[in-house]
Parts: sequence; structure tokens; C-alpha cells
Amino acid sequence: MGCEALASPQTILSDCPRMALDDRFTFRCGPELACFGHCCRDVTIVLTPFDVLRLKTALGMDSSDFLEQHTISPRFEGQKFPIVILKMDEERAKQCPFLSETGCGVYAHRPWACRMYPLGAAEPKSPTPTDQPFHFLVREDLCQGHGEACEVSVRQWISRQGAEEYEMMGAGFKELTLHDFWDGDRPLTEAQADMFYMACYDLDRFRRFVFESRFLQVFEVDEARVEALRNDDQELLEFGIQWLRLTIFGERSMKLRRDAALRRNGK
Ligand code: SF4
Ligand code: SF4
Repeated sequence: MGCEALASPQTILSDCPRMALDDRFTFRCGPELACFGHCCRDVTIVLTPFDVLRLKTALGMDSSDFLEQHTISPRFEGQKFPIVILKMDEERAKQCPFLSETGCGVYAHRPWACRMYPLGAAEPKSPTPTDQPFHFLVREDLCQGHGEACEVSVRQWISRQGAEEYEMMGAGFKELTLHDFWDGDRPLTEAQADMFYMACYDLDRFRRFVFESRFLQVFEVDEARVEALRNDDQELLEFGIQWLRLTIFGERSMKLRRDAALRRNGK
């Protein structure tokens, strides 16, 4: 059972053997394996907003500095919204900048994709009783972990890798990226793409935007939440996603202050 690492989303949905949470597989990873760390070289790791939040916090970096130093945000045809990819170190044979001789240097804060490997996750856009979210096993020749006799269920793997928190914190972003808006033929403007990038990934810049612009004069935000937004990145991320649903999708996910609403209506 397994799927190629570079399978396309369509192939994953149609061809990959689907694994439920209680399905089991055999796998073990550790420094005694000859392949140790090989999977951290020349690899494409798409970072979620929560991955960026955890890494920049662990490294004590401002989000703008972290993004500039450690990520790229590629543009490609047909792209719907900005994505962020971990930048490999060209001077060290394209290995992950966090790979050390003893393994992952940010292990406690490693991205969701690193935690889940060799499992991937897929989600049909419109789940039905027979077409539900599922996991699948990624098989790569370089990885010797599949030959190790250590059986585990998908559910146990997710729990042992500490990926549950990432899935919980990623729920709002997942909903944002699966929204029907993206099915339409309305590409984001440059300004909207920058708002998306800032509110999802560049949280310290978003915080400055909230507190140093007219933002809080325009939107109604209760005092307790304003205080939370000053210091709590997770709260700020949820707030940013709520704001994007208003500014990009036009949903009533936030309220305008009464005076700002009157000005907008020319009264
Ligand atoms: S077993 Fe697989 S996941 Fe573990 S170090 Fe080797 S290549 Fe990486
Ligand atoms: S973050 Fe850690 S686990 Fe992920 S690729 Fe880099 S070194 Fe490997």
C-alpha cells in the first residue's frame, strides 16, 4: 500500500489507497537507519500558517524576517492564493536549514508535513458519505522506514507526532482554502493577495497593520479581543482569517463600526 511522493492531487484522490484512522501500517524512523535525514534534503515542504507561527516563535524571529530568510512564495499559472514553501539551503546541498548532525534542529516545532510523513492527507472538496477525508501512505525509495516491523494505526501516528494541535489550528485555514470562491474565475488582485499573505503568514506585520492603521476605527472588535490580539498569535491568526473572509469573500464575518458604516453609506 502506498503512493508516489509527487502524485498530483487528482491522482491522490482517484488512485491512492485510502486509509481510515484505524487502518494500520508498519513504519519506524530513527538515527540508526542509514537514510536518517535524507528526507530533509531537496524536499518541497509547503508551510501552513500555523507552521510559520510555530517556527518563527521557536526561533525568536519576527514573521517578516522568518519569511524572508527561510521561505519562498512562488507564483505559478492558475494559482489561487499565496503559498509559502520552506527554503532549502543551496550552499549545503539543498538540505533543510534546520537539519543538524543529530537530526531536526526544530523537532518540537517541526511543520505538519514533517510530523505526518510518511502519511499524507487528502480532502475531497465536497465530502459525501462515500467520499470522505482520508490519509494515504507515501512511499519513496530513499526511505527505509517502511521495512521496519513496527505497526501503528493512522490515529496513533497522528497522536504520537503531536499533529492534532496542528490539525485543530489549521481548521480555519483549511476552510478558507476550500471555499467555493476559488472555483470562480476571479483571481485575487495584488492587494488582496498581499492581504492574504500578511494575515495568514506574516502575523507580526498583520499585528502592526491592525494596531497602527485605522483598522480598529473601522471594525467593531470587543475590548477583550483587542487585548488578546496584542500578544496572542493564535488569536491573531483566527482573527486574520475572519477578516479575509470579509475582504475577499464578502462574507459578514466582521462588523463595521456604526460611524464607519454610516460614512460608507454616505450618511
Ligand atoms: S526512515 Fe524515512 S522518514 Fe525516517 S529518516 Fe529515513 S528517510 Fe527519513
Ligand atoms: S523541519 Fe526538521 S523534519 Fe522538517 S525537513 Fe527540516 S530538518 Fe527535516
